[in-house]
Parts: sequence; C-alpha cells; structure tokens
Amino acid sequence: YDFTADDLLDLGEIGRGGFGSVNKMIFKKNEKVMAVKRIRCSNVVDEREQKRIMDLDVAMRSSNDCSYIVRFYGAIFKEGDCWILMELMSISLDKFYKYVYERQNQRIPENILGQITVATVHALNYLKEKLKIIHRDVKPSNILLHDRGDIKLCDFGISGQLIDSIAKTKDAGCRPYMAPERIDPEFSHKGYDVRSDVWSLGITLMEVATGKFPYPNKWASVFEQLYQVVQGPAPQLTRHYNGIDFSEEFCSFVNTCLIKEEKNRPKYQTLLQHSFIQLHEKLQPYVHPEVSAYIQNVLESMSNNGISQFTTDVQGA
Ligand code: ADP
Ligand code: MG
Repeated sequence: YDFTADDLLDLGEIGRGGFGSVNKMIFKKNEKVMAVKRIRCSNVVDEREQKRIMDLDVAMRSSNDCSYIVRFYGAIFKEGDCWILMELMSISLDKFYKYVYERQNQRIPENILGQITVATVHALNYLKEKLKIIHRDVKPSNILLHDRGDIKLCDFGISGQLIDSIAKTKDAGCRPYMAPERIDPEFSHKGYDVRSDVWSLGITLMEVATGKFPYPNKWASVFEQLYQVVQGPAPQLTRHYNGIDFSEEFCSFVNTCLIKEEKNRPKYQTLLQHSFIQLHEKLQPYVHPEVSAYIQNVLESMSNNGISQFTTDVQGA
C-alpha cells in the first residue's frame, strides 16, 4: 500500500466520535488535503480483523466511482491503530442542521432534503448492489456535505465491522438510530438486513427535516431508550410537524422507511421508485447550483458568527 503515516502532516482535529478522532491532514508529496479517521483499535482488532479490514480496503477503493460516497484513499495500520484516509468534506449533516434550526431559527428547505435523500438512497443501494456491503451506521454525522454541492455518505463497512466488535467488548452505548429488530433479535428473521439501514435513514431524515430527534432526547437509561424503540409506536412525520410544513410525498417517504415491521419495510429498489425520489432525481441537474449556494450560505453564516464548521457543538448553545 502506497501510504505510511510519515507521508502525512497533521493539521489538527476536525471531529471526534465513538471510535476515535478525525483529523485534517496533508499528504506531503502532492499537498493533497484529506480527512484521516484514526480508530483506536489495539484491544478490539486482532490479526484476523485486520485482514478483513484490508480486504475491505480493496473493496472501498473500487467504491470511488459512486459520486454519492466519500472518496476513499486507503487504510494504514499504525501501532495497532487503524487510519482511514478519505476525502475532506465541508461539514457533516448533524452540525449543519443543528446550526440551521438552533442558531438561524430556520428549516432546511425540501429541495435540499430531496437531494440528501436521493444521494443517501443511491449510496446505500450502490454499497449493497456493487460491493455487497450493508452500511450499519446510517445517521446524520455520516452524511457529509461539500460546498461545491455534493452530498455523500461515509463510514460504511469498516465502521460496521468495528461496531460489532466493540459492541461485544463494551456496553452498546446510545445508538438510537437502531431499528427495533436490531435491538431485539426476536423481531428479526435472519441476520442483518438492509431494511435496518432503511429504518435508520427514516430516523435520520426525520431528525434533519424537523430539527429534532424523533424520540425524547433525555432518556432515563439506555434500557429505557431501547425499550421505547422496540415497544413504542414508530415515529411518524405529519404534514405539519413542530410548526414546519412538509409535502405529502416527503411524509410518505419518511413514514415508509419507518414501518416498524421489518418484513413490511421496503428495500432500495422500492424506495427508488417512490415519487419523492423520482421528483428530486429529475430536479437534480437544475438544483445542483442551488444546493451549492445554500451550503455556502450556511457555512458563511457560521463563519461570520465565529463558529467552525468542524468543531462546533451548537447543541449546548
Ligand atoms: P461520528 O460519525 O459518530 O460523529 P466519526 O468519528 O465518524 O464519529 O466522525 C467524527 C466527526 O468528524 C463527524 O461527526 C464529522 O463532523 C467529522 N468528519 C468525519 N469524516 C469527515 C470528512 N471526511 N470530512 C469532514 N468531516 C468529517
Ligand atoms: Mg462517522
């Protein structure tokens, strides 16, 4: 493999997640800037797991022909840690929507939600059909925006492998995007199915569209949170929700993803036929400059308010 850690210059942290940090780095040889995810995995990843990640590395390199997936440059193992080298994007969707709803007191317009939906469903379908990969960690922070107007999915495959390994060693933690059948396997007929990702997509879209997570945010315990997903009704988006208007098509799309029974929930082929997707797919070439302008506009507002698109945590503001 063509990279070693010595070829990279660290320009500082841009984010932090459950498995480690993400840093901005520059590849010295050609001054290419990238995002490097450093996963602390010495305790979790044994040799066999490393080999599996290396195999995935090969698969991920070939994922570079889908424009809805973050470019992947390679993986490095350094002193038991795994470094994932990928395209640097402008901002993740969690930070973006929180700024728009909580600081600007605005909503994300439906044409932008449409493009987010089109990009994510195509990315998930590509992973499944071409790479035989199920994402397993669909959530707003894994959807990234670029101010040139691109919307891309990241953190597939490898994060899935690691999530499983880590879930076995530590407590599962708060993962409220999980489908009911993943929490309680009694609801599931076989192993992991793409439809669990469809559920997570529904929760993600509902959160990003309404500006708030569709389940109560303050859980008394992780147990209570999981109990509610399994025992409670599925969240449903309505035409008027939290003082915001949504189209019939968008509500229908989100609510289709949030069908509680796994076997009744659609897979990607059906979702791609949905009128909401069809409409925004057709609009895509025309609205692309609008998407770019919109993202730039929000980033500019953040910058004018002295908020970094990378390190900000607007939730507590
Ligand atoms: P999580 O996705 O759970 O937030 P991660 O470790 O995957 O945790 O990422 C931490 C943060 O780093 C993300 O929330 C995102 O804001 C940022 N980030 C990750 N990858 C990139 C990237 N390629 N470009 C820009 N920002 C990124
Ligand atoms: Mg992530």
